[in-house]
Amino acid sequence: SDHKLEYPSCPNDMDWKKLYPGFIDPETNELTSKVTIADIGCGFGGLLIDLSPEFPQNLILGMEIRVQVTNYVEDRIIALRSQNKDTKAYQNISVLRGNAMKFLPNFFEKSQLEKIFFCFPDPHFKQRKHKARIVTNTLLSEYAYVLKEGGIVYTITDVLDLHEWMVKHLEEHPLFERLDKEWESQDKCVQIMTNATEEGQKVERKKGAKYIACYRRVSNPVII
Ligand code: SAM
Repeated sequence: SDHKLEYPSCPNDMDWKKLYPGFIDPETNELTSKVTIADIGCGFGGLLIDLSPEFPQNLILGMEIRVQVTNYVEDRIIALRSQNKDTKAYQNISVLRGNAMKFLPNFFEKSQLEKIFFCFPDPHFKQRKHKARIVTNTLLSEYAYVLKEGGIVYTITDVLDLHEWMVKHLEEHPLFERLDKEWESQDKCVQIMTNATEEGQKVERKKGAKYIACYRRVSNPVII
């Protein structure tokens, strides 16, 4: 439960250097950049691993609530880094145990992120469990806070009801606008998230549907 979760009181209190040692500037002993891509509920880490070579200059973070799963992803990244010492690949991905529904602004500053992924989030089928879904009005305001203007929210699921739920809430939110199918077909992250995650591969094997919706974080309205 949450009282066992460790989280910083603000983003600066977090020891990011521990997560991305390959990005420490030897002269200043500080990280050369901040996390700009987040995979919420990253599961076993397939998306992180496939995004890594596509965005070698970006720090990418998976957030996962289950302890064992987080440990597994951590080990997976350590192994990849040590197998690729010569090329320094996979230094830009890391994972953190955390509840994204509660502490996101503790980890990320306003406008810090360029992309947030929600890949095959838990569907919480029953009506009374809907409030546990990862996309709600309140949470969307937090996602809008940590995303920069022009930043993208990516969603994919095999559950039509959840897809419709996410679309409905994103449509209703004033700070997001949907990107069309043509944009989706040209975006490399859409392609990656469709195939990279473990859940996505499971859906593929079962020949299930994959529903995609991507939204751009628009500018804050000017209040007169
Ligand atoms: N994205 C991965 C994929 O596509 O393979 C995993 C999908 S799995 C169905 C959903 C994941 O979200 C689980 O690993 C679960 O533990 C995690 N999760 C659920 N609620 C969460 C929360 N509030 N914060 C962080 N992770 C969460």
